[in-house]
Amino acid sequence: MNSALGIGMTSQRTRNRMITRLQEKGIQDQQVLAAMSIVPRHLFMDEAMAHRAYEDTALPIKFGQTISQPWVVARMTEIVMQQTPKKVLEIGTGSGYQAAILGQLIEKVFSVERIDNLTKIARRRFIQLGYMNVRTKTGDGFLGWESESPFDLIIATAAPEHVPIKLLDQLKVGGMMLLPLGDNKQQSLVKIIKTETGFEKKILDSVMFVPFLPGVIRK
Ligand code: SAH
Repeated sequence: MNSALGIGMTSQRTRNRMITRLQEKGIQDQQVLAAMSIVPRHLFMDEAMAHRAYEDTALPIKFGQTISQPWVVARMTEIVMQQTPKKVLEIGTGSGYQAAILGQLIEKVFSVERIDNLTKIARRRFIQLGYMNVRTKTGDGFLGWESESPFDLIIATAAPEHVPIKLLDQLKVGGMMLLPLGDNKQQSLVKIIKTETGFEKKILDSVMFVPFLPGVIRK
């Protein structure tokens, strides 16, 4: 066996163990589990962290940010796939892992990140791994991605204290927005459906994400 193949098989085995754990923790959607067993999470972080890639935990990436915990990614993806969305906007590209999972399942993925260096690293990963349907740009997520709107789905992976109004404007009628809302002490995952006449809001799990911050960082 050559060593490249050996590494590939090792990560597939540990990834399969992660899938079993996700099922034990209540994730049932088969297409979400399949997507998570394909995407190589260890390639979305620094090599020094890669040996922990398939633990069910958030891990640090560059610039004080984190790659979300696999269970959170699975849970959020399971919720949004109830809508069978075709065009999605993610706020908070970070490592690009959540966007890649969405890219496995959804035709068009747009993702905005405020830290330009993270955008660039994630973009390189999408190209290397062949996610041609995932586009990312550096921008302030409070503004969304107007030229590509409206979206069937908007998902935020950073937590604002209040729902960003511009994002609601960029959602189709019938579309869903899923985001963590709260401060650094308490947050909940909130699902919002845009209807003909307004919005339906439902509070789901308690979660913990990095803050949703205004402005762009280009150094
Ligand atoms: N989805 C990511 C999670 C990264 S953590 C993953 O799978 O790895 C959340 C990210 O949101 C951070 O990179 C942070 O810089 C970014 N972020 C915070 N506020 C933002 C904003 N207003 N616009 C765009 N990105 C933002």
